[in-house]
Parts: sequence; structure tokens; C-alpha cells
Amino acid sequence: MGDVTAEVTDLLRHLIRNACVNDGARDSGHEVRSADVLASYLDGAGLDMERYEPAPGRTSLVARMEGRRPDAPTLLLMGHTDVVPVSPDRWRRDPFGAELVDGEVWGRGAIDMLNLTASMAVAVRRLAESGFRPDGTLIYLAVADEEALGTWGADHLTAHEPDAVRADYVITESGGIPVTGGDGALRLPVMVAEKGTCWMTLRVEGTPGHASQPYRTDNALVTAAEVVRRLSEHRPETRIHDTWRRFLAGMGLPDELTAPLLDPDRLIDSLADLPVSMARQFHACTHTTLAPTVARGGVKTNVIPDRVDLEVDVRTLPGQTFDDVRSLLDRALGDLADRVSIVEAHDDPSTASPVETPLWDTLGRVSRRFYDGSHLVPMLSVGATDARFFRRVGATAYGFGLFSRKLSFEDYGRMFHGDDERVDVESLRLSTELWTAVTQDLLAP
Ligand SMILES: [Zn+2]
Repeated sequence: MGDVTAEVTDLLRHLIRNACVNDGARDSGHEVRSADVLASYLDGAGLDMERYEPAPGRTSLVARMEGRRPDAPTLLLMGHTDVVPVSPDRWRRDPFGAELVDGEVWGRGAIDMLNLTASMAVAVRRLAESGFRPDGTLIYLAVADEEALGTWGADHLTAHEPDAVRADYVITESGGIPVTGGDGALRLPVMVAEKGTCWMTLRVEGTPGHASQPYRTDNALVTAAEVVRRLSEHRPETRIHDTWRRFLAGMGLPDELTAPLLDPDRLIDSLADLPVSMARQFHACTHTTLAPTVARGGVKTNVIPDRVDLEVDVRTLPGQTFDDVRSLLDRALGDLADRVSIVEAHDDPSTASPVETPLWDTLGRVSRRFYDGSHLVPMLSVGATDARFFRRVGATAYGFGLFSRKLSFEDYGRMFHGDDERVDVESLRLSTELWTAVTQDLLAP
């Protein structure tokens, strides 16, 4: 067998060049190209492979190594093959060129998450070729449509092909970026839960009229501007939840730093002193967030607008329901609440997996082989991943990976859906070896 680093680097570059850009439209993505590349890469290793294509071109690939004991646990390694669009003129290199420069692979998806999709495939193929026959079943899933709503990928598979993807344990993005704890030892965050997504369209109505006489008119755009201002200035209450408490406890920070972050009355003020990316993250972890993102309204320069639609991205905490979002909106809007109607809402509640599990123990044990003295810390992901579909059907799903020390937590966060996305080849090797070791630890006799 050749060199692992070269093999995973080469596969990642293929996936980047395929440019499976998902803009949310049904006819985007074209993940079939990467399903093809992965299927031919895995072919001949003795895995059972199956493709699923609920819409043309939206192909997911399942490769399976059947365990010897039906009562042993099943592990599913899941990587998505789609990527989000780019603004190419803001990049220093071709976002789909997959150039290898000074030990880094550049391109859309290098971090989110073709790096892991590639390293999982390499680990699975090498395990199969080595003759590894586990007690439990190993499934590799290269899934389409993660970057929209999972409609043609994980949502479809968990709902309509449950036998193909049923698993006790699922690992997907993101996590595993090494950060130094308060005591100097390394911490590796594991995404054990994620916030809910509630996307809504709010409508503000007014009364049309001639814009040459605006005095005392009922202008929907002017009302909408005030609605936007109130939404963005509203301060939802601080909620200290279990994952947050465990995260802070696990970071080994001094008490004077931790205490205000655990106090709902002091948390907001203490964020002011933190670097902005950390403050944003900590804020999102402990609050429902409201972000007005799209406004549509008005028909002509000389017409007083009678309708404005506002899209708002609301992210909910564990346990929150759509009714909670509704009353939050009412509080934020105050006396304007009855001027605003919800015309559309897509509510996808928060999900969580338990922390005390055999998978947790495996990840901790195995990670210490790569990072001596490291500890796992549970974390709430503020964005949504395909893990949510698997948690809802009963699997324990974590976001994890392993990265080199070259990548800082800040850079990592910035490159998600950002410009100049790239990953170092050492991180690719580390995550490949991680998947191999995790599989052996969890599934071997
Ligand atoms: Zn992703």
C-alpha cells in the first residue's frame, strides 16, 4: 500500500475539483460526480456498495463492511459531498483548482467537509483491504445535500432507506480542532448537540399610495425597518444549559473566568472582553439568536409599498419549541407584533446525544494516541449538520475529526463557508488514522 497522506490528499483534490456546489436548488449539487469518484476508489476492496438517488444527480453512496456479530454495534462514518457556493474574486486561488501549495490543499470544501469525507473513505478502504473483519458493522456514507436541508441526502435516507443507514453510532463534522485548556493540556471539542434552525418569513403590510405625498402614509417599508431594528436589538435571555456547563467544566479554565460565563446575569457583560469570534460563539451557545437576513418589498420608486417580506434566521437552544420562538418574536416586536404575520416557517428543533457512551470513551482513548494527555470536551454546535437526522432516529451522533496544530480554532471557524478555504495534509493524515483507530477500537472483537 502506498503512502496514506498522498492517497487522502489525492482523493480530496478529486472531490474539490468536482465542484458539487449546492445552492439549495433541486438541480444543483450534482453529487453524482463525487459518488462516482468514491465508488471507483472503493471498488475492489470487498465492500458492499449501494447508491441512492432520490432526485437526478443527487446521489449518495453507502459502502458497508458487515460485522460478524449481529448484536455488536454499528458505526457509520458520514461525510457530505456537496459544498456551498463561492465568491471566486475574493479568493487568492481557484476555489475549485484543488492546488497543493506548501503542504496545503486549497479549495471549497477543504474544511467543510470534503477533508473528512476523503479521509473516511481512505480509512474504510484500507481497513477492508487489510482483511479487517469486525464484530460490529462499519458503514461509510458519502451523503448529498447537507448544505441545504438534507432533503436529497440524510433526511431522505433516514426516512426512506432506514435499513441502509441504521447505526448505533454516527460520526460526522465538525469538531476535533485542538485547543489549549486553562491548565495547558489539549482539549478536543466533540459536537454532541446542535442548535435548532427556525427559518421564517415575516410579512409587514402597509397601504399603497402615491409616493409624491408621503405625509401620514402607512409605508410597509418604514414599518419593516423598525421591525428589523427591534429584532436585531432584542436581547433574548441567557440560558445556561447542560452542554454549556460541561463544556466550561471541561476546559480547565480558572474560576474567575468560568464563574461569570455560568451566571445568566453576568454572561453578556463578560463576553465584551473576549475576542470577537469567541464572543460570538459563546453568545450563540447560550442564547436563542435572531438574525434578519433578507428583505423584499416595494414595487416602484413612486409607489408607497404595501408589503415587505423579511426572512429571519432564528437558532433555537435545546428544548425550545416553535411556540417559544413565537413568544420571543412577540417580546422583540412589542407594539408592532400585530403588524407582523408569519407567512412561512421551517422549524427544525435542536438535537442532542448523551455524553456517557462507548463512542465517547473510544474517541477519548484513541485521540490520546495522537495527542498525548488530551481530553475531549462536549460542545454545542451552533450550526446544523446531518447528525440531527440520525439523532432523531435514535443514534448517538457526534461531530469529530482530528487536525494538526497548524490550524487555529479561529482560522477553522473563519474558513467554514468563507474565502481561501484550505487544509494541511498533516490534518488529512491524522483524521485518516483516527477513523482507522476508532473503527478498530469500537468494532473489533
Ligand atoms: Zn459541512
